[in-house]
Amino acid sequence: MILLENVAFSYGNKRIFTDFSLELADSARLALMGPSGCGKSTLLRLISGLLTPQSGRIAGLPQDGVAYVFQESRLLPQLTARENVELVLKNVENRQKLAEEILTELGLGDELDTLPSELSGGMARRVAMARALAFPSPLLVLDEAFTGLDERTRGIVADCVLRRLGGRTLVMSTHSELEAELLGCEILRLAPPK
Ligand code: ADP
Ligand code: MG
Repeated sequence: MILLENVAFSYGNKRIFTDFSLELADSARLALMGPSGCGKSTLLRLISGLLTPQSGRIAGLPQDGVAYVFQESRLLPQLTARENVELVLKNVENRQKLAEEILTELGLGDELDTLPSELSGGMARRVAMARALAFPSPLLVLDEAFTGLDERTRGIVADCVLRRLGGRTLVMSTHSELEAELLGCEILRLAPPK
């Protein structure tokens, strides 16, 4: 279980959370919704241990890293699609096969050896998704990871996430209730920025 208790977080003088608490059971699925700037990405980073609150307590963070799809895809430009996925699988058996399988499930079977600069935005997003799904962490975080995907691709990606999620905890941010529903997430609405 991941626990946030009375968390306060500011960037400089800019207060984002004053007294925020959340309990995430193992295998929970949660979608953060709310207007741009309300703190969705900040909360995802707090939940993942990438940011530390100024006060309050966060407990139960995964010890060995979080499977994270950032709002920008953040692929390594000098590595192919396949290599970007394999990179996070250092200690995983059959890493080549696993990378290939997931990329193929996401409709990128013909792009295994393509560099990020030659992929469309939606393709790059799916490589980032493959990388996160392949990474063996108990927490999967998707920050507006479906943005820019057409409806059909979104369905393909959602199916792949559901197939590969297992008992992991999923926390996502989205502007779409449909996406939250597709992934079986409970919705948490964050208040708009003041
Ligand atoms: P959302 O993901 O809901 O759009 P964010 O968590 O990215 O919201 O941002 C919440 C607020 O914090 C916004 O006003 C944003 O401008 C501000 N913010 C985000 N990151 C930083 C940062 N690194 N430094 C200063 N302000 C930031
Ligand atoms: Mg954001």
